[in-house]
Amino acid sequence: MNDLAAPLDFAPSRSGEPPLLRERGQREVFCGLTSIVWLHRKLQDAFFLVVGSRTCAHLIQSAAGVMIFAEPRFGTAILGDRDLAGIADANDELDRVCLTLLARRPDIRALFLVGSCPSEVIKLDLAKAAERLNARLLPRVRVLNYSGSGIETTFTQGEDGALRSMVPVLPATDARQLMIVGCLADVVEDQFRRVFDALGIGPVVFFPSRRAAELPAVGPNTRLLPAQPFVGDAVRTLFARGAQLLQAPYPFGAEGTTAWFAAAAEAFDVPAERFAAVTGALADRARRSAARYRERLQGKRLFLMPDSQLEIPLARFLSREMGMELIEVGTPYLDRQMVGRELALLPATRICEGQDVDSQLDRVRAAQPDLTVCGLGLANPLEAEGLATKWSIELVFTPIHGFEQTGDLAEIFARPLERRARLTV
Ligand code: SF4
Repeated sequence: MNDLAAPLDFAPSRSGEPPLLRERGQREVFCGLTSIVWLHRKLQDAFFLVVGSRTCAHLIQSAAGVMIFAEPRFGTAILGDRDLAGIADANDELDRVCLTLLARRPDIRALFLVGSCPSEVIKLDLAKAAERLNARLLPRVRVLNYSGSGIETTFTQGEDGALRSMVPVLPATDARQLMIVGCLADVVEDQFRRVFDALGIGPVVFFPSRRAAELPAVGPNTRLLPAQPFVGDAVRTLFARGAQLLQAPYPFGAEGTTAWFAAAAEAFDVPAERFAAVTGALADRARRSAARYRERLQGKRLFLMPDSQLEIPLARFLSREMGMELIEVGTPYLDRQMVGRELALLPATRICEGQDVDSQLDRVRAAQPDLTVCGLGLANPLEAEGLATKWSIELVFTPIHGFEQTGDLAEIFARPLERRARLTV
């Protein structure tokens, strides 16, 4: 958690965009290590080794909840007092831990060394460690590194860092292809692939793929369609490989998903009739599946605290498709290149970039929203004060993308209101 006390900064909004408030104060956001929980599920042959403290180990264990693995694919190399004091050579220790781990786990094809606050403080060079280990282990195992430290990352930025670390080792291709960027649940990936097939768009590659040993290729004829708004650094690193970005809203709700596929359809010259024939019925079904929750959500006032970086696309879905009224939309950072199309669709509301948690909580209390979307640490106190909350972390652990998940996405927000309504009857 950071405490960077600074005055509020009211930035002038760009013309046509909602007003922007910038805050730089104490933050209540998980660090980037949290991303390991969904990344290790996706990359089935990868191991995530946090180089950190017991606090880091506890964080990922508790974020992973009650999942019990016979052979887990994440762990923590705990920096002891001797490492932190510079008495022991932490590099030698780290090499020993990695080699022992990989000898025991021949199924692991990619090892991510994940930096933390303690490894940053003692300036342990994980890029050098990865280089050293690759010299011994390639091609059987590839070692990569990125930072999940709370000093510089919020929780979804961990995924961005992991993807960015893979970009330099992606094979090259000149083929015209579409690359979907950002971790998606396998079920969603399969649904998306079926729609792209029906549209005649291909080849389509997903980054990350399910196996780190089968990396997708990239090149100047690759068009990037991000599925998550928080993979901006990875996308910009892909630019350096020649790929180009397709601007689109994100595939949340019938409207967002239609527009997301439309961006790909336009880039791949899909005729309008074919697009309508493939997506029309899917969008109708999505609207119908969400309609039953609209009654519960319509007119309800919503406050989104900055947490997952999904806030802006979700605010767009909840206001435009579910009829909710937006009070404030927080976002840990505003990456205009990644959310430009979303901002253009968002109704006038206050957007808050960054956080000063006390002043934000004051605004929540003053506004008395019907629903507050926030991190775990803030939800319990707000519930105790009589406010309905939704944990934002659920949004990254649950499949919410695409036409077929639209009803589930709406239900996630309707459920706490339903529960509170039952409690107050
Ligand atoms: Fe805490 Fe930093 Fe470790 Fe994250 S990386 S668990 S913020 S010590």
